[in-house]
Amino acid sequence: MSTDARLFKAPPDLLSGRNILVTGAGDGIGRAAALSFAAHGATVILLGRQQQTLEAVYDAITDAGSPEPVIQVLDLASASDEHFSTLASQLEEELGCLHGLLHNAALLGPRKPLDQYPLKEWREVMTVNVEAGFVLTKALLPALKAAPAASVIFTSSGVGRRGKAFWGAYAVSKFATEGLCQVFADELGSTSQVRVNCINPGATNTRMRRAAYPAEMPTRNPDPADIMPAYLYLMGDASIGVNGRSLDAQGG
Ligand code: NDP
Repeated sequence: MSTDARLFKAPPDLLSGRNILVTGAGDGIGRAAALSFAAHGATVILLGRQQQTLEAVYDAITDAGSPEPVIQVLDLASASDEHFSTLASQLEEELGCLHGLLHNAALLGPRKPLDQYPLKEWREVMTVNVEAGFVLTKALLPALKAAPAASVIFTSSGVGRRGKAFWGAYAVSKFATEGLCQVFADELGSTSQVRVNCINPGATNTRMRRAAYPAEMPTRNPDPADIMPAYLYLMGDASIGVNGRSLDAQGG
């Protein structure tokens, strides 16, 4: 199954007419996913905390001739329940339903042993990486259920499957992400057409990877655009029936 995902060849109209929200769409893997989903026909809701970077992605999408995206500025570290429900009502009003949701935004947090890990940063990482995924999915469930076969993708990590020294809250948050994905998948699998899966991008040349491994040659890892087949597989109809899985975007 995961080999298929990594080798998936998406038809150009794979996501035509779909509305897909991507968090952390301004940079890195989220930016690449937004561009790729749009290039395959989707109207992408670009969610991030910086208007300027989202506008640059908006321009790249429209310059490529893809459907006009929607910008949603929201800081997931400080967003309240009310922000999420307002966002959900706006989307339902403007777009009707949501066919896809990619939880991609995350914070790396400090690389420190747990006995030196500051509580403030612990809470911030858990809020952005876990809590936001819970509250945003919950708020958007009516819009997701209104679509014929919606796909929710959570973003995991290798350290979310096996804990590693000095990865602190980030590693713990990715274990929690896998759990959140499984619980949603189990609840929704029998009661709706919404499927929920996790993806582990693997080492990818982004700002986060460069911050985590400053001594590493950045070009040793693939660019975000290179790992899109698995994202397109999970977002498109080829993955209907796949639920509660955790796939790898790289390796084999
Ligand atoms: P980047 O740091 O390059 O991008 C992260 C994105 O999340 C940015 O757009 C960032 O916005 C956004 N973000 C961070 N905090 C918030 C917030 N409070 N509110 C809204 N948006 C926020 O990381 P990657 O592209 O590398 O990572 C994408 C995903 O892949 C993450 O979930 C990461 O954990 C995961 N991953 C990445 C790997 C890699 O090797 N790159 C490996 C394994 C997993 P801003 O630009 O404003 O900072």
